[in-house]
Amino acid sequence: MSLEEVARRYAVAVSPVLLDLIDPADPNDPIARQFLPSVEELNVLPEERADPIGDAAHSPVPGIVHRHPGRVLFKAVSSCPVYCRFCFRRETIGPSNNKGRDNKLSRDDFESALTYIAAHAQIREVILTGGDPFILSPRRAEEITSRLASIPHVKVIRWHTRVPVTDPARVSDDLVAALHAPGASTWVAVHANHAREFSPPARAAIARLADGGIALVSQSVLLKGVNDNVETLAELMHAFVENRIKPYYLHHGDLAPGTSHFRTRIEDGLALMRQLRARLSGLEMPTYMLDIPGGFGKVPLESDHLQQTPAGYRVRDLSGQWHDYIAG
Ligand code: SF4
Repeated sequence: MSLEEVARRYAVAVSPVLLDLIDPADPNDPIARQFLPSVEELNVLPEERADPIGDAAHSPVPGIVHRHPGRVLFKAVSSCPVYCRFCFRRETIGPSNNKGRDNKLSRDDFESALTYIAAHAQIREVILTGGDPFILSPRRAEEITSRLASIPHVKVIRWHTRVPVTDPARVSDDLVAALHAPGASTWVAVHANHAREFSPPARAAIARLADGGIALVSQSVLLKGVNDNVETLAELMHAFVENRIKPYYLHHGDLAPGTSHFRTRIEDGLALMRQLRARLSGLEMPTYMLDIPGGFGKVPLESDHLQQTPAGYRVRDLSGQWHDYIAG
């Protein structure tokens, strides 16, 4: 088993900003662990799935995932400037020459995605995801924003991105301007998992977004060996708030192939949340979420959506249906 085999199977890229943050003398460096490939990724467990959160089952047209009535995911691009080793969409993202994937929606698919959104009046919120949509040029981002904002029932456009910390120079004044369009408000969810990701260029990029009038929330993944202790998580949440980002979701690791070395146990995550609550203000507290494998949606784990069973857990989706959750 070799790293070449890992790279043949999953996309690999690390940006210069992140390489600068890695301490080569630290074998447990939390930045290196998130971005440098490891042979552990070749260990795929039976419960892991190519599509862990069930996007395909809710995709009426290419690029759209319509799981909840009032909102859709819009996957306009499937590449990223870096490839996180724990990525939940690792089977479907990558540069265009990796496994013959195309990294952008074709013009026809882009138009049919917009037609689908325009035809469904219950859609209030469109979530741009990918891949990382901030890899798009300001011109393309402006086209997406203005086309979506011109649909009368679309009121909120939300961009999910890791670029402010992974490749902050892309957050130019032109890109910030491209996110605004009359008729809809813009939110950006910034993905970061360790306070060290907030380099000076990252802080400056986030300030450009906040000063540009963009509302900011956070997304993080609970990752073994990266942030699975209360001190690291507390520092991460402090860093979000100091940078004007409201902590939003702390995701339990999804059952993506070859990621078991990153996954914590649910009981450890729940214990960390109890410890965090004793330390953090309400403003700094995230919600600990599980995306139920198979496409049944996300639920908060510190809630009556979870029951322990002899074999693992049962999780109740938002329609009230229970699903077994068993993971190594
Ligand atoms: S930036 Fe997001 S989509 Fe891209 S590899 Fe990381 S987790 Fe996956």
